[in-house]
Amino acid sequence: MAKHDIVRAGHPVLRAVAEPVAEDEFGSKALRDLVRTMVESMRRAPGVGLAAPQIGVSKRVIVLEDAERLMAALNLEQRQARARVPFALRALVNPELELLGAPEAVFFEGCLSVPGLSALVPRHLTVTVRARDEKGDPVEWTVSGWPARILQHEVDHLDGGLYVDRMLTRTLGVNDEVAARWQSMNPAEVREKLRA
Ligand code: ZN
Repeated sequence: MAKHDIVRAGHPVLRAVAEPVAEDEFGSKALRDLVRTMVESMRRAPGVGLAAPQIGVSKRVIVLEDAERLMAALNLEQRQARARVPFALRALVNPELELLGAPEAVFFEGCLSVPGLSALVPRHLTVTVRARDEKGDPVEWTVSGWPARILQHEVDHLDGGLYVDRMLTRTLGVNDEVAARWQSMNPAEVREKLRA
């Protein structure tokens, strides 16, 4: 497997609980290299987040980044509904999530490890993440909207979770069909039409 290949559903590493990064690994070349490889893989895909198990490394490391060009398919109203805004690259080690409020944000979501598909997934609107950076310095970030969704998705990967475990199963669709029929519709209407 080339080092940039993204592991796909069916591989057991995606169902394992990832190991915390140990104290003596912070600031190491190995951890820097892991983060760099993850960032390259995420950008190449392209995607807005990646967890280390997705490149076959069972460690508690995630990267996330969103950019204007990645949300080009969404109009202003759709971006606002999702609270989707560009944010700079973040690499988080041993992240712990505090979920705030009820899981009431319901939108289509996909995963680089489950290519070609997406489904409605309820997520908490706001989260606080507490983590370390690659050097070991503490990081705390409270965020709402799409970045909060990405964080929940990526931290799930560290515990062997996939979005399909949380999706509204009747909304699962092939990306082309979802884009053509459902993406621009209000999620409540999608649920009604699909009886989800
Ligand atoms: Zn994923």
